[in-house]
Amino acid sequence: MVRDTREAGWQMMNGPHGSDTPYLDYNATAPIRPEAAAAVIEAMLSVGNASSTHRPGRQAAHRVDIARRQLAGLLNCSPGEIIFTSGATEANNLALHAAYTAGNPLVTTPVEHPAVLETARTVTAEQPEDLVLLPVGTDGLVDLGALDQVFAGRHGGVVSLMAANNETGVLTDLHVAAKAVREAGVLVHTDATQIIGRLPADVAELDVDLVSLSAHKFGGPQGVGALYVRRGAPLSHRPLLVGGGQERGWRAGTLNVAGIVGMGAAAESARRGLGEEAERIASLRDRLEYLLTSALPDCRINGRHDQRLPGVTSVIFPSVPADAVLAAMPEVAASGGSACASGAPMPSHVLLAMGLSQEDADSTIRFSLGYATTDAEIGHAAQAAVRAVKQVRSALAEAHGPR
Ligand code: PMP
Repeated sequence: MVRDTREAGWQMMNGPHGSDTPYLDYNATAPIRPEAAAAVIEAMLSVGNASSTHRPGRQAAHRVDIARRQLAGLLNCSPGEIIFTSGATEANNLALHAAYTAGNPLVTTPVEHPAVLETARTVTAEQPEDLVLLPVGTDGLVDLGALDQVFAGRHGGVVSLMAANNETGVLTDLHVAAKAVREAGVLVHTDATQIIGRLPADVAELDVDLVSLSAHKFGGPQGVGALYVRRGAPLSHRPLLVGGGQERGWRAGTLNVAGIVGMGAAAESARRGLGEEAERIASLRDRLEYLLTSALPDCRINGRHDQRLPGVTSVIFPSVPADAVLAAMPEVAASGGSACASGAPMPSHVLLAMGLSQEDADSTIRFSLGYATTDAEIGHAAQAAVRAVKQVRSALAEAHGPR
């Protein structure tokens, strides 16, 4: 039965997309892994609140325990250091509420996801001078050298740095950051949403205290994630959700058993593919860049090329609005360089912080690849993008040209 459900679920949830309809928006959300879909369905068909003491409840708790171990395996931490949440947004909120204390610096960067930036602004609202944004270079790299100045002669505070940028894929050297602030008794948080399950992320090696992640970026279901909290990290206990005391009092509410179990299965599958998958994906990404830049020599790739996630390329197609290009290639799922959370597109704060002009930011398209991306999808997407850019360019030339 599981096998049938699994196959039906996989097809249903991933639709007919094949090489003709390339899905290159893994940084927005990845297709669910078949193992994760099967685990979700199986858990959903079983009754049981993980807090109940009867047999179905204990069985649900057992499933959650297995998922906790699977996720801990991916992070190389102990299962007791994981707090399940509804995703990375909640994990980021929880982390910064618990790590920030008024009067101490909260240091982050202007290229963070809004789930960090807005939370940082919210928690420091009464003492805005506590909020420090580190400089970012035109290559998207955060200037970690500035940490020394911020913490010179000080003790305490929190630094929140994303492990990989969701728009450009640029990586942050967390190890260097942690080393720079450790002596000053500073907590280190990382929004690792885009790196978990894509590159090895051993939390002990990274030397961080708090790690946020979201299942749907590595092939788990949407609406579930976690916060890793290093055992012994000196946090103030400030849960956002109080109630039944689940997750050791850190996050009240009935556990999302099916979501958690799906995340565990995705974590297990991602862990087995780590390394090998990253290499394959990076070579597909490089091929996509080659196809685009050889057909359209004026296009430029954003971000530091040798310090990026394997599956992301952020491409400026000069003088052509990204939304027009995307509309001209409806069969390709990719993203514009603008955030459009509320229906009103805004120029990307990430690209602007890197010093791009608004015009270049508006002409940027992000292609993000993942574990199921195929060579055929890349070929098709490159062809469609080149055609779309040329089509938009000639339409613009016609509209603006001499009459
Ligand atoms: N942080 C980063 C870097 C992200 O890319 C995302 C998702 N776009 C989030 C946080 C938020 O994740 P979620 O929507 O799953 O809460």
